[in-house]
Amino acid sequence: MNLILLGPPGAGKGTQAQRLERAHGLVQLSTGDMLRAAVAAGTEVGKRAKEVMAAGGLVSDDIVVGIIADRIAQDDCKNGFILDGFPRTVAQAEALDTMLAERGMKLHHVIDMQVDDEILVERVSGRYTCAKCNAGYHDKFHQPKVAGVCDICGSTEFKRRADDNAETVRSRLEAFHAQTAPLLPYYESKGVLGTVDGMAAIDEVTRQIEAVLGFATA
Ligand code: AMP
Repeated sequence: MNLILLGPPGAGKGTQAQRLERAHGLVQLSTGDMLRAAVAAGTEVGKRAKEVMAAGGLVSDDIVVGIIADRIAQDDCKNGFILDGFPRTVAQAEALDTMLAERGMKLHHVIDMQVDDEILVERVSGRYTCAKCNAGYHDKFHQPKVAGVCDICGSTEFKRRADDNAETVRSRLEAFHAQTAPLLPYYESKGVLGTVDGMAAIDEVTRQIEAVLGFATA
């Protein structure tokens, strides 16, 4: 099964993608993670993306489309993938349609994770991840079970994203409303759009997503 998690920054796309990856063996494809890795490695792509990302804008379509085209061609995507943070523009969505068609692949579901803008700034400003396995946490809403120790891999090192600050989040939200929200009617017209309440508790959001995907829920 191939799906897209669609929602504003802080909607919980990464958290839910990791859960679906662990539960169902789908591969999480996060363009944000891939771009951050490119920036850290100082590659050509990283150099082109760095400033735009720091300002909370969108990296050019040709860069992210190229990254995803390379990634979905890899073997581990054959059993299904979760796009987290891609597509973010209608041009990217059209490019995705073309690359899937060329590979005989299909997009099964697009999940619209709805969250009010007002709570996103607080959500994003408090979040951090395990430096080793990338599991997501939050100062207020989702702390590790043992303080300072990752629930998943036991690492004691964590990191915060440079763009997870109140000012940049506002720019990222503007980019979402102007450039990404038009994807909702785009996918609705294709009959693949499902909606979940991204403001519910993390387990409840997972339950709602699994219901949309048709996985059995307890
Ligand atoms: P994310 O980790 O998904 O919040 O993405 C972090 C940043 O990477 C965004 O604010 C953008 O600058 C850039 N980015 C990630 N995915 C895309 C995309 N599909 N199109 C354009 N820019 C992207």
